[in-house]
Amino acid sequence: MAGIIAVTEERKQEVLFTETLFYSYLAVYSRSDFREISLEDLPRLKIGVGRGYYSESVLQNDLGITSYVAYDDLEHAILDLQSGSIDLIFENQQLLDNLLIRHGLKGPVIAQLTQLYPRAHAYAISKNRPELVSFMNQRISELKRSGVFEEIYEKYFYEHTADYTRTRNWRIAFSVILVLILIAGLFRLMQTLIKLLKIDLQQSLRRLESARDELAVANTTLQSKLSEIEDLAYVNRVTGLPNKNRFKETVESLISDPDMDHFCFLFLDLDDFKEVNEAFGHAVGDQVLQKIARRLSRAEPESKVQVFNLGSDEFACLFIRNANPTVCPDSARMLEHIAKPLAIADHVFNLSASGGIVSYPEHGKTFDELLKHADTALYHAKSIQRGIATVYDPAFGQAVVAKALLQSDLRQALANQEFELHYQPQLIAQSGKICGFEALVRWNRPGQGQISPLIFIKAAEESQLIIPLGEWVLRTACQFIRDLNTRLQSAFYVSVNISSIQIQQDHFVEQVLMILEQTGLNPTCLELEITESAFLKTTEQVIAKLERLRAAGICIALDDFGTGYSSLSYLKELPMSTLKIDRSFVKNLLDDPKAKSLTRSIIAIGHLLDMKVVAEGIETHEQRRYLTSIECDCFQGYLIQKPLPEKQLCEWLETFGRDR
Ligand code: C2E
Ligand code: MG
Ligand code: MG
Repeated sequence: MAGIIAVTEERKQEVLFTETLFYSYLAVYSRSDFREISLEDLPRLKIGVGRGYYSESVLQNDLGITSYVAYDDLEHAILDLQSGSIDLIFENQQLLDNLLIRHGLKGPVIAQLTQLYPRAHAYAISKNRPELVSFMNQRISELKRSGVFEEIYEKYFYEHTADYTRTRNWRIAFSVILVLILIAGLFRLMQTLIKLLKIDLQQSLRRLESARDELAVANTTLQSKLSEIEDLAYVNRVTGLPNKNRFKETVESLISDPDMDHFCFLFLDLDDFKEVNEAFGHAVGDQVLQKIARRLSRAEPESKVQVFNLGSDEFACLFIRNANPTVCPDSARMLEHIAKPLAIADHVFNLSASGGIVSYPEHGKTFDELLKHADTALYHAKSIQRGIATVYDPAFGQAVVAKALLQSDLRQALANQEFELHYQPQLIAQSGKICGFEALVRWNRPGQGQISPLIFIKAAEESQLIIPLGEWVLRTACQFIRDLNTRLQSAFYVSVNISSIQIQQDHFVEQVLMILEQTGLNPTCLELEITESAFLKTTEQVIAKLERLRAAGICIALDDFGTGYSSLSYLKELPMSTLKIDRSFVKNLLDDPKAKSLTRSIIAIGHLLDMKVVAEGIETHEQRRYLTSIECDCFQGYLIQKPLPEKQLCEWLETFGRDR
């Protein structure tokens, strides 16, 4: 066996070769500062080469270069290269690298062209020992596997074998690919994960959205429940108007508003609404309230208004930024809206409302104080005249106390027989003869003298005491006139004032007829005086009752005509026999041309409707003369006589008869 030699075709003729151990290459070296070269440049440069080396034959045969410097010792060649004696060294790459490394010259000397003319090297084996080839191949494989071959190669050539480098490169490439695959896999995994997370998120989102929708529905339900609760707490169930709670809150928020210096409210209450409920039932009563609420809400006063229904027939109109003087006309307008006839089913109601007005801060600093004073003012208004509103005055409070005392005293008065009737004569205008008397009640209040009915009748009505009192008046008057007529053989009638409350009583007609029967008075000698306020409510029923009384022969007079609600249009509907022109009307008669012509018209219409017309409050001869001239039928007034107690009247009657 020979050593490791280059494998050539000629040598293959003579020896056998093991598998290639390594490849040797030729390379071109220069100084590091030498310009860049290629193989084509070699013929023009000064080249050094190992004498008799394989490189020399390549230079001559393959590159056709014959001019060069051949060295026996390659170390000399390196020195010459460094000194610039030669330009290049054309030599075995492994060999020269080995030398350069050993002399520490890798750096100053560089390989410019490498891996040239590769040549396999293997063990040469004698053709006589062919079995050694496989033996050696096996050994070589073992050495390569164990890494010893690589170690020796590296030690010798200062570099790795091509196999090693290839394997390493392949490994690097493989690792890179593996890493790339891993990254791709990871990326894919991430993508899948993200996708899964996305799906999960979308599902969560959908769940959230549906939860949100459910919440929204729940919220709407809650809101509607809340508004229902609020409605219950703040809205009047019958009229749908904001209620007392809301009113209180609104007023209190105005009070606490530093920018709000004044506001007013009208507290109003329907007059005798209780009777509507009693007579027609609560369903009709509710409809009345609803219509009133609508009227108030649609009323358009000068100032801005908010309407509240404080409960049943109590309402409040809040005028913001308004002072008393301007709110009064507005309040009157609100009351007028209520007073217009109101039709429900077959009924026409003529209702009225009274009101109390308070102003902040003059009449109170708190809601409770303001409302209390508004109530007092309302009470006061009712005591003067229904259908009006009064502005609060601190004196009202005392009046309320006085009224309460009055009512309790009235109760006692009836039991103690403190009432007395006075009679005021009525004359026939044409003849000047007495035709009858109006009975007028007086109260001889112990310690206070005689009290006018103007003071106590209202209180008696409000406390319902007017019912027994009215009955007493009627019985006493009937008794008196029956006795008088019997005594004087006359046919005088007596006019008795009847309160609307009395007429509302179910058995009023029966009561009157019974009294007539018990006293034995001829029904034609009785006249009942009623005022228009009796027709403001439940008109049909009142008319029916009056018709029954008329049918029994009793006369009915419409008292105080010309005041309040006087309406000529409905006069023909009422079963009246007498029309009494009010004193206030007669008073201005002679000074006012309009009053004159109106009085003339009233008398004409009265006659047209077959009524007797009586003028009240005649105090002067002029009035009497004028009224006679326009055909007024009868007179009553101080000119003839003031109302007198029984005894004095009888005395007067005697003198009157003589005087005439
Ligand atoms: P009335 O029915 O209009 O009665 C007429 C009123 O005018 C009476 O006042 C009478 O005294 C007064 N009077 C009559 N002539 C003159 C006159 O020439 N000048 C002046 N200044 N006054 C005159 P009185 O008696 O104070 O009664 C007031 C009102 O009280 C009555 O007005 C009537 O509405 C009511 N009243 C009186 N008695 C009763 C009664 O028994 N029952 C009811 N329900 N009301 C009564
Ligand atoms: Mg009267
Ligand atoms: Mg009168």
